[in-house]
Amino acid sequence: MLKQICPKCNKEYTSRPAISRIDNKTRICPACGVIEAIENIIESNKRSKRKKKLVRLVH
Ligand SMILES: [Zn+2]
Repeated sequence: MLKQICPKCNKEYTSRPAISRIDNKTRICPACGVIEAIENIIESNKRSKRKKKLVRLVH
């Protein structure tokens, strides 16, 4: 297996890389891939909450 270094955590990994959501091409380790996925869900939740608040404000 080819060893790769994850640019996010600087750790070596040999499993199949995940693609970073930041630029859609950076290869990161699967663990960081999971972290980014969770961050993405949290961010989109925050965004939709803010949107709902705005919708209530203008009505
Ligand atoms: Zn990593």
